[in-house]
Amino acid sequence: MEFDKELFKESIRSRLKRHYGKKLEEANKHDIYDAVSSAVMDHIQTNWIATRSTYEDADTRQMYYLSAEFLMGRALSNNLINFGIMNAVKEVLDELDFEYTSIEEEEPDAGLGNGGLGRLAACFLDSLATLEYPGHGYGIRYQYGMFEQHIENGFQVEYPDNWLKHRDPWEVKRSDLAVKVRFGGTPVMEKASNGHVHFKLIGAEEITATPYDIPIVGYDTRTVNRLRLWEASSDNGFDLQLFNDMHYHRAVERQNNAENISRVLYPNDSGPSGKALRLKQQYFFSSASLQDLLAKFKRDHGSDFAKFPQFNVIQLNDTHPVVAIPELMRLLIDEEGMGWEAAWDVVSRTFAYTNHTILAEALEKWPIEIFQGLVPRVYQIVEEINRRFLIELREKFPGDWKRQNDMSIIGEGMIRMAWLAIVGCFSVNGVAALHTELLKSTELSDWYGLYPQKFNNKTNGVTQRRWLLSANPELASFITAKIGHGWEKDLSKLKKLEKFADDKAALEEFMQIKYRNKIRLAKYLKETQNIFIDPDSIFDVQIKRLHEYKRQLLNILHVMHLYNRILENPSVDFVPRTFIFGAKAASGYRRAKSIIKLINTVGDRINNDHRVKGRLRVVFVENYRVSLAEKLFPASDVSEQISTAGKEASGTGNMKFMLNGALTVGTLDGANIEIVEEAGAENAFIFGLTTEQIQKIEAEHSYNPQEILSSHPALQAVLTQLIDGTYGSAGDALFRELYDSLVYGVEGQRPDVYYVLADFQSYVEAQEKISAAYADRLGWAKKALLNVARGGKFSSDRTIEDYVRDIWKLKKIVIQ
Ligand SMILES: *Cc1c(COP(=O)(O)O)cnc(C)c1O
Repeated sequence: MEFDKELFKESIRSRLKRHYGKKLEEANKHDIYDAVSSAVMDHIQTNWIATRSTYEDADTRQMYYLSAEFLMGRALSNNLINFGIMNAVKEVLDELDFEYTSIEEEEPDAGLGNGGLGRLAACFLDSLATLEYPGHGYGIRYQYGMFEQHIENGFQVEYPDNWLKHRDPWEVKRSDLAVKVRFGGTPVMEKASNGHVHFKLIGAEEITATPYDIPIVGYDTRTVNRLRLWEASSDNGFDLQLFNDMHYHRAVERQNNAENISRVLYPNDSGPSGKALRLKQQYFFSSASLQDLLAKFKRDHGSDFAKFPQFNVIQLNDTHPVVAIPELMRLLIDEEGMGWEAAWDVVSRTFAYTNHTILAEALEKWPIEIFQGLVPRVYQIVEEINRRFLIELREKFPGDWKRQNDMSIIGEGMIRMAWLAIVGCFSVNGVAALHTELLKSTELSDWYGLYPQKFNNKTNGVTQRRWLLSANPELASFITAKIGHGWEKDLSKLKKLEKFADDKAALEEFMQIKYRNKIRLAKYLKETQNIFIDPDSIFDVQIKRLHEYKRQLLNILHVMHLYNRILENPSVDFVPRTFIFGAKAASGYRRAKSIIKLINTVGDRINNDHRVKGRLRVVFVENYRVSLAEKLFPASDVSEQISTAGKEASGTGNMKFMLNGALTVGTLDGANIEIVEEAGAENAFIFGLTTEQIQKIEAEHSYNPQEILSSHPALQAVLTQLIDGTYGSAGDALFRELYDSLVYGVEGQRPDVYYVLADFQSYVEAQEKISAAYADRLGWAKKALLNVARGGKFSSDRTIEDYVRDIWKLKKIVIQ
């Protein structure tokens, strides 16, 4: 791309003047961030417009990714790299006496997601644009994203994430494209002249949905796709009459209630909130997105909606947007005058569904009263979809009442959103090979029996542009120096690195890069959180949402065990290790919060015990998020992927670690299986029960954690320390609850639901192997390098090509 440095400087100056009334000399770092971003937006706009009109002319099928979450992180570096002007802009800033890295830090993360599911959506958008596919995102412009986590006295405390405090230079408000979304009211039947029956909503509450567009810049292409996020408001929200009568609160109540719909992201990961406002959010963005697509379709193709699936395919990211299925039925029947069969034919060729979890508690269900109250006409349509589906089922399985009960979309007073998805979609996919097989054989086995052709696997991936090229520039340069360019858009090329696996100089250089990344992380944590870590120790890292199934508890119990060993034998030969944790717990998830408190309490004790002599450290980094993740992955030696086998659908953090040369210690779960398959078993540390072993134990009801404890005195000692005052009094009741949940089971649960104690010894042994392996510096370097070299499969580019080939059937559109 042609880039004129002097013009760019001028553009920065004029923006500072216009937006802030400041001269360059008066500008602070944030002003510069904003002005630089605006100037970059100018460049992006040219390609954005070209992309839109090229898609228009191509009259081609486009894909729309409907997702309640897009965990985008920061945009500046990503856009500069993908646009190919990073170095030029750095030079400009240099000449203006600003340091790029400090300007970059001014950007707040767009934290519009919880974790893996939201970050996957963001990686997919990057890959779609880079691979020149017409694929776009639709979601919600939450005013508050994922909460900001502070650690106070060892406890998690949540603060609002006011990421839009300053204006967002990357968004473009499109008031001209606003639509109305209606809630409540009464459906009234009407008969059209052609005999078609449709319904009109009377007395509904009308919400305005206004789109904000964010450009998605492809790497080394002219493609700029679109992320369209909807904001809720009310047109007649301010009641002047009430205001004049001095009812100030009531005067703005309607406006506030409308705005609440896009106010805040629910901080739940892998679990439903069950809150009516959450359903409102889901319907709000699903309906607005569909209205947007139908309006475009009518502009381009008129009212021949049978052709809609020829030009539109909609991927539903989990069940959050599944209400779009009956909503499209409603729009086609009530607004466009179609009959049921014709509308259903359109709908069932349009949608595809991705399942992200097999945790039973995470399958979304809505109570009928809530659903019917909020969207009464949509509820009627769900009933009709179900009525027709049950007829189909009765014909296939006459007399099988249990199956009909189990598979009914409406049952036990609830609407089962996953069932609605499977009935209404032409494709159902899991996100890793094991996950998809488990869906077919367990949770969704009845459905697989009914619709085997719908089921397929799409193993997740991550974009190497953000997670390697941008996050780890030194490793990226090393790779390019060794194998040339090309891997940035075809990650399978990393294979060529294998030939350096025994090249001592290359391995030495590789380890030096890791070391400098560790120093950089240490410096950053010192400056921002006053945390000290030693770059000469192993950085053993577990960063992900805090969840019992992810087993941060197993990790910290092992740390307690190591501490006991050091105290028992102060001169024990011990490879220094720093255990780094980063994790947010859902605000209402009490046990997850107890685990955070435990990690911090144990950390405080160990880090301040001089007898440890720095051989063991435990740190909890606050407020884990995308921009912090970008600093942690490149500095990691060990990747903790220790979920209970069968519980983690895929994981994507595991892939980011692999690409940055960390070795996995993990269970045979999710994509870990595919990671070791690629890396080679000798280059990872696998431990623990397998899914089949756990299935067997559960079928036999044969698990007895107390038996494990009585044959493992060291583990018994660790557990006792949870309750004997070793770790202070503040957390006493909390740690007692953790103890009880492991040993006895609480609140009617089985003891140790996630097999922490069962896997403990196996984990200890895997960790011992890690220490031994790390002591052999070149041996370790070889394993780490081979992980990078064999990580090619885990690019989201590969995942997107899989979706395009099997589900979306898109054509590449090159922007001239
Ligand atoms: C990748 C990523 C995740 C997902 O991590 P898992 O280990 O796969 O659960 C969550 N949060 C952030 C910020 C990430 O970048």
